[in-house]
Amino acid sequence: MVKILTSSAMALTLFASAGTMIPASAFAQSAYDAQFTEYPTYSGDDLELLVDGSGTHFRLWSPKASEARVMLYDNGHTGTAYQTLPMTFNAADGTWSASVADKLYGKFYTFQIRQNDKWLDETPGVWAKAVGLNGQRAAIIDMANTNPAGWCCDRGPEVKNFSDVIIYEMHHRDFSVDPSSGIANKGKFLALTEQGTTSPQGLATGIDHLKELGITHVHILPSYDYNSVDEANLQLNQYNWGYDPQNHNTPEGSYSTNPSDPETRVREMKQMVKALHDAGIGVIMDVVYNHTAENDGSNFELTAPGYYHRHWDDGRYSDASGCGNETASDRRQMHDYIVNSVKYWADEYHIDGFRFDLMAIHDTETMNDVAAELKKINPSIFVYGEGWTAGDSPLAIDRRALKENVSAMTDIAVFSDDLRDAVKGHYSNAEDRGFATGKPGNEETVKIGIVAATAHPQVDFSKGNNSKFPYAKSPEMIVNYVSCHDDLTLTDKLRKSMPEASDSLRQAAAKLAQTIVFTSQGTPFMFAGEEMFRDKKGVHNSYNSPDSINAIDWNLKARNADLFNYYKGLTALRKAHPAFRMTSAEQIARHLVFDKIDSSKQPNLISYSLKDNANGDDWKEIKVILNGADSPQTVSIAKGDWRIVAIDGKISPEADLGAMQGGKTTVAPCSALILARVK
Ligand code: CA
Repeated sequence: MVKILTSSAMALTLFASAGTMIPASAFAQSAYDAQFTEYPTYSGDDLELLVDGSGTHFRLWSPKASEARVMLYDNGHTGTAYQTLPMTFNAADGTWSASVADKLYGKFYTFQIRQNDKWLDETPGVWAKAVGLNGQRAAIIDMANTNPAGWCCDRGPEVKNFSDVIIYEMHHRDFSVDPSSGIANKGKFLALTEQGTTSPQGLATGIDHLKELGITHVHILPSYDYNSVDEANLQLNQYNWGYDPQNHNTPEGSYSTNPSDPETRVREMKQMVKALHDAGIGVIMDVVYNHTAENDGSNFELTAPGYYHRHWDDGRYSDASGCGNETASDRRQMHDYIVNSVKYWADEYHIDGFRFDLMAIHDTETMNDVAAELKKINPSIFVYGEGWTAGDSPLAIDRRALKENVSAMTDIAVFSDDLRDAVKGHYSNAEDRGFATGKPGNEETVKIGIVAATAHPQVDFSKGNNSKFPYAKSPEMIVNYVSCHDDLTLTDKLRKSMPEASDSLRQAAAKLAQTIVFTSQGTPFMFAGEEMFRDKKGVHNSYNSPDSINAIDWNLKARNADLFNYYKGLTALRKAHPAFRMTSAEQIARHLVFDKIDSSKQPNLISYSLKDNANGDDWKEIKVILNGADSPQTVSIAKGDWRIVAIDGKISPEADLGAMQGGKTTVAPCSALILARVK
């Protein structure tokens, strides 16, 4: 059954503006959930399937089942079981096991448990690492057969500091499905392995485009096996973002060229990772451990009923995801599940980062363990997430991995909704404008974003729109953005909030908005296609919209070449100048100095300097002046030999757009002026 869900990411918007909307139910767990803390747990990472020299071994964690069995199949989705294996219980760790003496490569299996005198439905379990069509049965494959050539030496880019990362968020289908992409494997993992692809105008598309743009990491929307696309009917061109997890530990079938073949699903995802790594680009996976696509029918419920989800006192599923349920990271076996699952992706697929959907449904302890364990595998792995929930949770607020609690975590970053809403206008009010589109009153909140929500002597957090205190201890805890797959694209937001303007004026606003993102401290994040002024025809929640809404039209790259070149300039500028990538709050407080501007007289104007070769920069001082007003504004700049880096919609990382001597200077409407002083 395919269940259509509202995406979690859409639902989160209800609570996305700030922690302030989170109701204050602050008890640790419900009376109903207390029963689960008594369960024995199993800490090994070999759950469910292990093939070794002595045969094939199954071990299912299901502490309250009265019976359990394994069904073996020849096929991934049709036919009946050729053999049923009874399992034996080990009360000490709550697991059931069965073995056969052969290596059953090529076969499929499901588990079935009996609990409260009832046999539940068959399930591939929660640890299926390969599956058949539509993820109904787990597959037994030799993972070594799925490795592309050169896999042993494959490695993602080394990341010294997370502020060095530039994130590009993309959906497989959006990126390649349009005929204008020139890509053969449309909507597939393999799309990102194709080189030399071009748009009708001969401009680079696909992976070559990513290299040209200069981003460091792609962040792929959910790519584990999800529920909503029927893998048996791909000719129907179904679309989904994928926030409806089914099998967390295996790739989604519809992104492979043959979802019926478990090895192909795995191999093609690895080929994608390898191709991106060969291009010097890291791969970040969007992971959704916070809820499951189904309630009672989920693999969690079918293996250990009740345990993996949270409930209210009366036994109802609690629903902090807005999708019908939420998982219970505060319980040992679920905690271990999340930690072991991301470790698995990092080890087996060489994944370079994880973006946690609705991260605040998880507890801070779990997130700390996630980051610490991943660091042991690869210190370059970047973990960040949405520091909010989409509804109330039984989990105590002080335990939630909220944006406001980010400083209680180590090596975890959160999205800054402060900068996002202040720059372009509120996400939930299409017509609302922000700093970059002429609405006054957002200056201090933009400054909160510029200093990456760290304590700064010149930033008054009490005037912040969303957050009222410096919640980040370090800029490496903040991801700055103005748009993502959720809500209106930047283009659509600008069209709705500037209805009378021309697209050329809107593009000026887009440039200014992204200049703020890319010059701010923290890690910049952009949504795929915005560098070409991509829109989604005004659809804000396009989680299951057709390709006609979601596909990127690569003809836009030629049409909006000036905008694309500006984005290229932003990535190049940021990569060349460590002043934009400081690594501590102390550095920012010392080297980032705002100029005094009276916002009541000069609204929508921010000017600051990055001083004294900040963070080892070879420029002595960088001046960033942001004018979001629809009229020119005058600023006073210290006398000196200034070179022009950005002016009136043009940008040059080499600072060769002219020279200035300082003094009274006019900044064009809706634009950024960036200057550099070498000595
Ligand atoms: Ca699927």
